[in-house]
Amino acid sequence: MYKEVMSKRDFYDVLGVSREADADTIKKAYRGLAMKYHPDRNPDDAQAVERMKEINEAYAVLNDGEKRRLYDTYGHAGLQGFTQEDIFRGADFGSIFEGLFGGGFGFGGGIFDEIFRGRSYGGTRRRRGADLKYGLKVTLEDVYSGKEEVINLRRTETCSTCSGKGAKKDGIRVCESCRGTGQMVSEQRRGGSVFRQISVCGRCRGKGEAILDPCEECRGKGAVDRSKDIKVHVPKGMDSGHAIRISGEGEPGSDGAAPGDLYIVLTVEDHDVFERHGDDIYVAKEIDFPLAALGGKIKDVPSLDGKVSIDIPAGTQTGSIFKVPNKGMPRLKGHGHGDEYVVVKVQTPTDLSREEKDLLKNLQKLRDKKGR
Ligand SMILES: [Zn+2]
Ligand SMILES: [Zn+2]
Repeated sequence: MYKEVMSKRDFYDVLGVSREADADTIKKAYRGLAMKYHPDRNPDDAQAVERMKEINEAYAVLNDGEKRRLYDTYGHAGLQGFTQEDIFRGADFGSIFEGLFGGGFGFGGGIFDEIFRGRSYGGTRRRRGADLKYGLKVTLEDVYSGKEEVINLRRTETCSTCSGKGAKKDGIRVCESCRGTGQMVSEQRRGGSVFRQISVCGRCRGKGEAILDPCEECRGKGAVDRSKDIKVHVPKGMDSGHAIRISGEGEPGSDGAAPGDLYIVLTVEDHDVFERHGDDIYVAKEIDFPLAALGGKIKDVPSLDGKVSIDIPAGTQTGSIFKVPNKGMPRLKGHGHGDEYVVVKVQTPTDLSREEKDLLKNLQKLRDKKGR
């Protein structure tokens, strides 16, 4: 598995586009390559099928905001948990070629479904459940240390009593109207010719079977509304816009097909003290002006890992930045932490005592004498 992922070509290279390419550019590049390498047009080239698969996969990923973000962030490893079916879900290959091939022959869904998506569900009978997105707000501390969160999700679930079939045991019969085909055929005679029209069976809505004895739990729908607690592990180092995929916790599929997935999309809330830039953390620290002039040590600089101390050199100006290594965010990819940057603000005192004022006046005199 690992090896396979490693040896895969970069999706941007496959489509020959830059990493910044927009949706239109990606679509255009894909269309061009698909026309060139489509196996129908290269019947003698055994590699065309493989090449086409690669192109399709690259397009399916880069055309999907969520998958593209995962790929951009983690590379092929980010899609490791996805099945081929997951990768191609939502990718609408058919519409890209609409208008190019008139009736949709060759490119119109069918060939892509069968050859490239690997499996055909046979029309509308079984459909995988929809993916769900759930927005989760976390604090900077949460993504610094990692967090276990339990979210309560209200959603439609597959009815466990009937396993989503909507009928009691033996409560399903072959549809009598279409005799199980899911289609109705009617003939019309016009002049000398016969027109045969095929339409979806209205009684079973194309399923080919009808429910005689509906399940009492879900009243034949195959699904029920439930709320469920779901445990989410938020890994260290995640940032706003990153998503955590929880397999199989999306909406149920129709007629017992596999459920979709749940994507927990993170928003990291702004912090009162720290500002995050990638893996680095910025913090402002006020220091007294004698310290800035004379130099010294400050011990109470806040960091996400407790207080840290820094050395202030003599003659430090306001706005100076000091780096505290490894006190930034944990790196999501790889090891270690980013750095913390302390931005120093030199405070002019406003609450001077008589004694302090005298000292400053003396200082002023001395400096005037130096001939400024
Ligand atoms: Zn049921
Ligand atoms: Zn029917």
